[in-house]
Amino acid sequence: MNKKNIRLTKHKSDSFTAPPPYCGDPLAVAMRLLSRSLYEGQYGEIPPGVSHYTDLERLLLYVEQVQYHLAGLARGDLGTRIPLGGFTGSLLKEMQQNLHQVTGKVRRLTVGDFSATASPMGELSEAFDIMGKTLQAAMERLEQQKRDLTELSDSLRREIEARATVEKDLRREQARLQKLASTDPLTGIANRRYFFQAAVRELERIRRTKSPACLAMLDIDHFKALNDHLGHSEGDKALRRIAKIITGTIRPYDIVGRYGGDEFIFLFPEISRDQAYTLLERLRGAVEKANIATGGDSPVITVSIGLIELRVEKKITGATLDRIIQRADEALYTAKKQCRNHICIL
Ligand code: GH3
Ligand code: MG
Repeated sequence: MNKKNIRLTKHKSDSFTAPPPYCGDPLAVAMRLLSRSLYEGQYGEIPPGVSHYTDLERLLLYVEQVQYHLAGLARGDLGTRIPLGGFTGSLLKEMQQNLHQVTGKVRRLTVGDFSATASPMGELSEAFDIMGKTLQAAMERLEQQKRDLTELSDSLRREIEARATVEKDLRREQARLQKLASTDPLTGIANRRYFFQAAVRELERIRRTKSPACLAMLDIDHFKALNDHLGHSEGDKALRRIAKIITGTIRPYDIVGRYGGDEFIFLFPEISRDQAYTLLERLRGAVEKANIATGGDSPVITVSIGLIELRVEKKITGATLDRIIQRADEALYTAKKQCRNHICIL
């Protein structure tokens, strides 16, 4: 059909009456009506003033553009320029602007900026404002909780540190007391009580493993003379020097203790009688060579030693250990009797 040949006929009443109610999209209906009018020559009721073909063509173009931009807005396309004039055009622009504004405010909310004011879109504005306020309140609550937790964790850390310090001090004090309770304060080696505890444990192990072991008693010769001639503090010094020679001579797993006065006691595990003799002979010689003067008739300090070999068959008790020590003491007595500065084996 040739569009240019179409001529519009005026409506019989010359006035526009509202179309009857219809179903579906009013714009789509309007477009259909205009299309039919333009291209099929079927005119329905048309508003006054729309009197010829170009008006209708422009109207169709306009309606198509309205539909195109509405679809764009529905898809969320807020960047396209809307070139339409008239009331519908400005409504579309306003809607685009408002949606644009809401989008910008949502972006600000996501970075924690709650200062956005209400946008001019009725219920959407209200919902948006409520959302912003709720989020702000939730953020403030979270911030407060974070501050509380930080404070709590700081105070817990301080508490843990304080407890750790107390615990460390206690452990140090306990170790100090333990050392004090087990060490001879003058010589720094184990005291008699500690020697007994350690020796009973070791002898029990020796009994189980049926391994060889030796026990020895050492006594300083003419120690009284040193005290008498050079004084008690020189005597103490001599005791410390001899203790040092002892610890420097024995093996790390040998047990030694100050038995009392100028007497020392040894338990040598995993050793034969001959090996123990060799070790003690080295010790005796080392004391003699230390040249600790007595100030009396005997020029230098020497030591006498009683050595016994152990055969541990029965369960070890304090009494068993006492009997063993008694035998070693007899050996020491014999050494003293024989010539001093001497080792006697029983
Ligand atoms: P012996 O050769 O028979 O052993 O003669 P000794 O003079 O050493 O006699 P004895 O072993 O019986 O005497 C031990 C002396 O050791 C007695 C005491 O004056 C002295 N003595 C004991 N304990 C200490 C101490 O802690 N410091 C000092 N300086 N002397 C002590
Ligand atoms: Mg003595």
